[in-house]
Amino acid sequence: MAKFKPPKIDKYGRGVQECRRCGAKDAVIQAYGIYLCRQCFREIAYAMGFKKYN
Ligand SMILES: [Zn+2]
Repeated sequence: MAKFKPPKIDKYGRGVQECRRCGAKDAVIQAYGIYLCRQCFREIAYAMGFKKYN
């Protein structure tokens, strides 16, 4: 039998969550359950009701 190497499972840490809009794994915002990368957040946030301070 060949050595069985289980697939690497990323359960926690950076790069676990995917942006649900574009699939990017970096800088995904999980706060408030939005799960969007920062780029998509910038585009969607305003429409979702977030507003810039200042
Ligand atoms: Zn995105």
